[in-house]
Amino acid sequence: MTATIIDGKAAAATLRADIAVEVARFAAATGRSPGLAVVLVGEDPASAVYVRSKGKATVEAGMESFEHRLPADTSEAELLALVDTLNGDPAVDGILVQLPLPPQIDADKVITRIDPDKDVDGFHPVNAGRLATGLPGFVPCTPYGCLMLLRSQLGSLSGKSAVVIGRSNIVGKPMALLLLGDSCTVTIAHSRTVDLPAIVRQADIVVAAVGRAEMVKGDWLKPGACVIDVGINRVEGSERGKTKLVGDVDFASASGVAGAITPVPGGVGPMTIACLIRNTLVSAARRDGFTLESAS
Ligand code: NDP
Repeated sequence: MTATIIDGKAAAATLRADIAVEVARFAAATGRSPGLAVVLVGEDPASAVYVRSKGKATVEAGMESFEHRLPADTSEAELLALVDTLNGDPAVDGILVQLPLPPQIDADKVITRIDPDKDVDGFHPVNAGRLATGLPGFVPCTPYGCLMLLRSQLGSLSGKSAVVIGRSNIVGKPMALLLLGDSCTVTIAHSRTVDLPAIVRQADIVVAAVGRAEMVKGDWLKPGACVIDVGINRVEGSERGKTKLVGDVDFASASGVAGAITPVPGGVGPMTIACLIRNTLVSAARRDGFTLESAS
């Protein structure tokens, strides 16, 4: 193995410590703590784990966590009514509705109902438009976390050639826009891309957000490339009956060619939650006209 391992866990811990300092300053100046409301509909076990980790990180940063757990048969109207209440609640700076939602609820309708200035997930079309046009707004947490890791590993990204594999609204598209904002030359690849390995081989920066276990191989990479693996895939482990998490990049072969690479787990995942907490702090600061010194 030649690649530097990018330690997302350590980077996230540093960011969260910075945020906690800013939260204390905010609370001293305004007499209140930033608040994040997280809504979980149904019992999906993976979603329940994410919601628990988000609540824990919020409290650890000194913020208020408001958890709303609704039954799986909640109607769309009931969920929209809760979103309206949270939009109007002055103690709530950020609203996150955990996806996926049960089939009777239109997720787009719910996301669009969230006040864009409390949309700390950055999924509202207004925030997507702000990102596309370079206006201040909220950027989705996973790609923002990836950008932070890239900047800390590489310094300036200007002029670098970047390939983003995946074009979802949650990861691929905002990632590409963020890299463009940092003056990379960006290619977005997807399931219809012809000769993906040849395209990836040209990249100084590769971000894999595909959802296919270990798809990107070491011999696809330009030697020395910086590889960010967003994928979270559960596969069978070496012991029978046990599963393990792997990324979208074949770590064993890629780490022999890349200059730097994020592991799975311990890479992008911890940064996602840290960026959510950061967005909530930024929202509170904007709403109260408070100037942040760091963590922005
Ligand atoms: P989506 O399923 O929404 O998007 C996957 C993208 O990959 C699509 O654009 C699809 O192309 C593309 N794709 C699929 N197969 C191929 C292929 N063979 N070659 C090239 N491109 C392909 O997934 P998400 O963006 O939501 O998530 C991607 C991964 O990141 C998942 O593993 C997910 O679990 C993980 N994730 C991790 C997070 C974290 O915190 N670490 C947060 C969010 C997601 P097309 O558009 O043509 O169908």
